[in-house]
Amino acid sequence: MQSMRDNPFRNLPAVHQVLDHPFLCQIKERHAHVALLDAIRVEIAELREKIKPQESGNLPIDLDALAGRVRTRLENSTVPLLRSVINATGIVLHTNLGRSPLAEAAARAAYDAGRGYLNLELDLATGKRSSRQDPIRDVLARLTGAESATAVNNCAAATLIVLRALASGREVIVSRGQLIEIGGSFRIPEIMTVSGATLREVGTTNITRIGDYEKAIGPNTALLMRIHPSNYRIRGFTQAVELAELVELGRKHNLPVIDDVGSGALLDFAEFGLPGEPVASESITAGADLVLCSGDKLLGGPQAGLIIGRRSLVERIEKDPLMRAVRIDKMMLAALEATLRLHLHPERARKEVPTLRMIALTPSELQPRAEALAAKLTSISGIASVQVREETSFVGGGSLPDQPLPSVVVAVTAEGMSEEAFASRLRIGHPAVLARIQDGQVLFDLRTVFEEQEADLREAIAEALKKE
Ligand SMILES: *Cc1c(COP(=O)(O)O)cnc(C)c1O
Repeated sequence: MQSMRDNPFRNLPAVHQVLDHPFLCQIKERHAHVALLDAIRVEIAELREKIKPQESGNLPIDLDALAGRVRTRLENSTVPLLRSVINATGIVLHTNLGRSPLAEAAARAAYDAGRGYLNLELDLATGKRSSRQDPIRDVLARLTGAESATAVNNCAAATLIVLRALASGREVIVSRGQLIEIGGSFRIPEIMTVSGATLREVGTTNITRIGDYEKAIGPNTALLMRIHPSNYRIRGFTQAVELAELVELGRKHNLPVIDDVGSGALLDFAEFGLPGEPVASESITAGADLVLCSGDKLLGGPQAGLIIGRRSLVERIEKDPLMRAVRIDKMMLAALEATLRLHLHPERARKEVPTLRMIALTPSELQPRAEALAAKLTSISGIASVQVREETSFVGGGSLPDQPLPSVVVAVTAEGMSEEAFASRLRIGHPAVLARIQDGQVLFDLRTVFEEQEADLREAIAEALKKE
């Protein structure tokens, strides 16, 4: 039997010994006593794990180091897990990073709505109950020329509620070329099943003609639906039916035409050199009865799904019992109204909505910023090479998949550190930095970095390169 003297665990400190350590004096006031005791127990347990039972003799225990680890553990435990990151990937609508950053006015509106009371469903003039949708309806009608509109949790919810309210138990005709998956298990055929509507596929993957739709129309048809294949393109021998043609057919048979444009541009992106993105108001002008789009893609607002179009259809949708389950909350609503109001002045929107501003940035605007960053980085230790070069950014978010944006990046190689290790250290740093790995280098694309973040980015890079 091992004698007490040889017991390798005998030097482990007792909880109270750590508790009284001067390092923990100040922290005691800021944290609950139970949390402090927990942190001490966990750290002692970790020390015990490290001791091998067969070891004997006096293992020195560094009480200062232990108390330091307790303090760090406690401090880290109070930091929220969701935190701001610097997006240096150049992907403007990065779904994993929260898609659109909000315009200042929109973020402020959400903040005010969140921290206080507001007239969410109250008409201040009459004191009577109103609809939370009223502010959105007005501004969307002005922006698109539509009669009415309503907003829900996101565009997936918009698709679901529209199909359920207008086509449950009946058929919806869709071209085979438009039966897409958006990502995160959102597939049009599946959403159709969930809604209770029956999908009636027409045409082929590459070719669908108006006659294909016409032949499929029967007594059980509820809707004609067009879905913008946001995240992929069919090239070569292809033919799709123009919205105007579909509208003509719908009118002839008294069937509503739904246009799911997804990306939700309210401004014409052709002006940014990005043709081919559908614009909601153009769909309304072309006669679509309802247009569906996302709030946090090219619109540059909060997560939301917009249903824009005929008043009678919007009213039917709002009466659906499921409407409550896909309801938009007050903070999203406030941010959405503010974002839409900025769009009433396209020049302002282009300056103030970060998504629009970032997409519009040209290489000649990015070049001096990249050069300034590169110049500052050359003096940092741990860098093997820094280079400014032309590259491409992507809009992301399932929109404009084949529309690369010409960009300028700072390409960095670390000394004695792989590009993966460098990128990983950037990711876990404070602030966290997301960069792109390409050809053995880490690329920083300033398109998606706010100018006020540039100093923090430099420091984060220096920190990530420090040798332990
Ligand atoms: C992105 C997209 C959706 C889903 O939008 P969310 O707002 O992410 O739910 C639906 N339809 C199309 C065509 C899309 O591009």
